[in-house]
Amino acid sequence: MTTKTACPDQIEHAATLDEQNSSRLDALYERLSAERKVSIGYPCNQRFDYTPLFRFMEFAVNNLGDPFSGSNFRMNTHDFEREVIMSFARLTGIRGEDCWGYVTNGGTEGNMYGLYLARELYPDGIVYFSEDTHYSVSKILRLQHTRNIMIRSHHTGEMDYQDLEESIRIHRDVPPIVFANVGTTMTGAVDRLDRIREVLERQCVPNAYIHVDAAFSGMILPFVDDPPPWHFGAGADSISISGHKMIGSPLPCGVSMVRKTHMERISRSVEYVGALDTTISGSRNAITPLMLWYALRAHGDDGFRELVAESLRKAVYVERALNETGIEAWRNPHSVIVVFPRPPEAMLDKWIIACSGDIAHLIALPGVSRDTLDEFICDMRQAIGAAV
Ligand SMILES: *Cc1c(COP(=O)(O)O)cnc(C)c1O
Repeated sequence: MTTKTACPDQIEHAATLDEQNSSRLDALYERLSAERKVSIGYPCNQRFDYTPLFRFMEFAVNNLGDPFSGSNFRMNTHDFEREVIMSFARLTGIRGEDCWGYVTNGGTEGNMYGLYLARELYPDGIVYFSEDTHYSVSKILRLQHTRNIMIRSHHTGEMDYQDLEESIRIHRDVPPIVFANVGTTMTGAVDRLDRIREVLERQCVPNAYIHVDAAFSGMILPFVDDPPPWHFGAGADSISISGHKMIGSPLPCGVSMVRKTHMERISRSVEYVGALDTTISGSRNAITPLMLWYALRAHGDDGFRELVAESLRKAVYVERALNETGIEAWRNPHSVIVVFPRPPEAMLDKWIIACSGDIAHLIALPGVSRDTLDEFICDMRQAIGAAV
């Protein structure tokens, strides 16, 4: 560890580890270096380099408060956070002046924020969400005490709009709050906003709210040709996107994007911090907005388009190779998630892949090499051969 940049006071008070504890850290480093090579089941881009930001780790920075309203605590990165939100505004089809948002601890917080706004707008509203929705959502609904109804989904993971319509029809006297998945966790399915709005229009509901959970695909769909309607331009009221998934980051993060008029309904001024209390967390990470800002600026739109194209090429490659082996692998449109039947247990000892019931998936993100994928395909071949 270098202390070059630390001020004299910090060096004087720096506590150091003894040899035994230092070697614990060395062992951890070894373990994580090995695990990352077999980690192919979770939607986290492992290829990133934030070394130019390491020097900011010396400051006791904190982004508490509304990034757009300023705060008494000036050791923050609010200006960079605002630029991140404006970049996401462009990617999610809303004018900068019409949107508001902040950098969250991850997709879950963005979903909680969207559902919180919806509940404040429509206190007696009912939340409709498909059975393929991320597990964190039922927890949020319990926490907020919001009425909710689970909707069936097709085997692809996409919401069954007929079941949605039937459920809304029975409860036409209360505002529907539709929780749409843009990229389900297991199969990458997209609940189409045009289909959802058709349902709302046919049932003549005057008040409705649509929250979009785009944890992973929110950074994929802006960079593919002909994406399905999914963002503010298609009628979303709020959107949650994770930062540590497609973009990649060693610290969990994400963005909560909302229509500004909705947020203004709940903002409250707090004198002690001289800030508007519009966020869920009080103290907030000031480093993750820098990381997102850095990644967005360093890659640019063209860089992300190439990252997404590369992942799609790899996904197609794995899907084909598995099918040629006789394993029924498939993908949803524009999805980099390759779904296949749950493999034998021995495979799960070696590979970090995600399983749910009788299906499993792998995600061929940029950090996963062709060699790794070939090794996986080879292992699958042998495991299946041994099992029959
Ligand atoms: C990962 C994920 C989440 C949760 O995001 P975190 O960043 O882990 O809080 C929510 N929804 C979907 C669809 C996800 O894939």
